[in-house]
Amino acid sequence: MANQIIIRVPDSCREERRHILKWIFEERFQLKMDIEFEKDRCQCSISLEGQVQSILLPDVFFGMYSGVEEQIPMPISPLKRVELGSRLLPVLFGHGDSEKGYSPSEEGAVISVDIFGSAFWLLFRLEEVSPVVPLDRHSRFPFADSVAYRENFLNYPLIDHYLIFLQKVMEQVWSRPLALRDSYRVTVSHDIDRPYLYHHLNPAKIIAKGIRAKSYSTARQLWGKRNRARVKPTSDPFFCMDKIMDLSESEGMKSAFYILAGGANRKFDPCYHPDQQPFLDLLRRIESRGHAIGLHGSYETGRNRELLLAEFTRLKRIPCLNSEEVKKTRQHYLRWHPLETPRIHEELGIEEDASLCFAGHSGFRCGTCHSFAMFDLFRREPLKLRQQPLIFMDTTVLSPIYRGPLSNEKIFQLCSSLSENCKEVGGVFSMLWHNTFFADILGNNALENHELYTHLLRAK
Ligand SMILES: [Zn+2]
Repeated sequence: MANQIIIRVPDSCREERRHILKWIFEERFQLKMDIEFEKDRCQCSISLEGQVQSILLPDVFFGMYSGVEEQIPMPISPLKRVELGSRLLPVLFGHGDSEKGYSPSEEGAVISVDIFGSAFWLLFRLEEVSPVVPLDRHSRFPFADSVAYRENFLNYPLIDHYLIFLQKVMEQVWSRPLALRDSYRVTVSHDIDRPYLYHHLNPAKIIAKGIRAKSYSTARQLWGKRNRARVKPTSDPFFCMDKIMDLSESEGMKSAFYILAGGANRKFDPCYHPDQQPFLDLLRRIESRGHAIGLHGSYETGRNRELLLAEFTRLKRIPCLNSEEVKKTRQHYLRWHPLETPRIHEELGIEEDASLCFAGHSGFRCGTCHSFAMFDLFRREPLKLRQQPLIFMDTTVLSPIYRGPLSNEKIFQLCSSLSENCKEVGGVFSMLWHNTFFADILGNNALENHELYTHLLRAK
């Protein structure tokens, strides 16, 4: 469609509105768009150049929003469900008593859902800005208190479905086909929290473990495994990144490895040195095989610019790496703050973050599985930094701290359903599998896990 879309909106929250409208119309629909801010307007309208008919939408969220320093509007629970296309979907912000999300009018159509405001609210995690609920032990917003979980839409991308509905309404009103960008694919990434099980052990640690186990033979075995791993690092069960690359390549995929390069928290930051052997050689292999390397920002870095800068610099300075290629990040423990973390990433020149998934529950924390440019909620300005939401993390279903351990059958079912939900909206099913998952420890069965993982990669 060559014609230009014209969006007329009330004259407030200009930067916020521009940002979300650009994502919706320019990125997702790939349309040329013009925005007109009008002082006396209280609804939003969508028109197409050369067409008389237009579509009206309510302006609920932005009508009440004045930035994060004021009270942030919240959806009112229980959310009303309305028919949007073939689905009954919850309405975050909207109005009207109709059970239908859309009604034809003489001028075109009236939609009862505030699609623009709801998308902004969910993508940029407005409910996490001033939480009234206690945070979890890692100071993260608890999934169980999210509107998505409470209203039962965490398992599908609500905003992507809103846009499919909008597409149908626009097609009907203007009698023209319109397409949403389809970029369905499965991606895999691996946070390297612990690259070694035995390799890094020193005599004092081994003696301490032997004493704890009250067993001389435990200490002797560990010593033997440690020496073997020193001679042949890939014999260390955690140092299996080459096998992970083999698996990805056999399915025509590339992996992304997120590497820790420091840490200030003695309890939660594992300490290893990416700039020392045998890790250096591994990085070289990852790069030469065309897989991606990103920074795994340590525990405190989501709110500590200097620390993240030091880690990013250390990783980029590793001689064998092409520093220009290191541009992604994911925060350790998925610790992320809506006002601070995106700004820190932006200032460091990081191009993509992939931290947005609840550690305790798989699904669609941002209501979308499409990437989007972040927004600085405090300074009220758009950022270049992209967010690629994470949809599934192995720990969520394997660790007893969260929902695990689930059976492999259940994990497969869950991943298949999440992947289908991404496929339906042409998004990205982004999975995180730790290297430690492929070792026969921590209650894992390496062979079974290997089979499960391969099965998942093939099922794409
Ligand atoms: Zn981690």
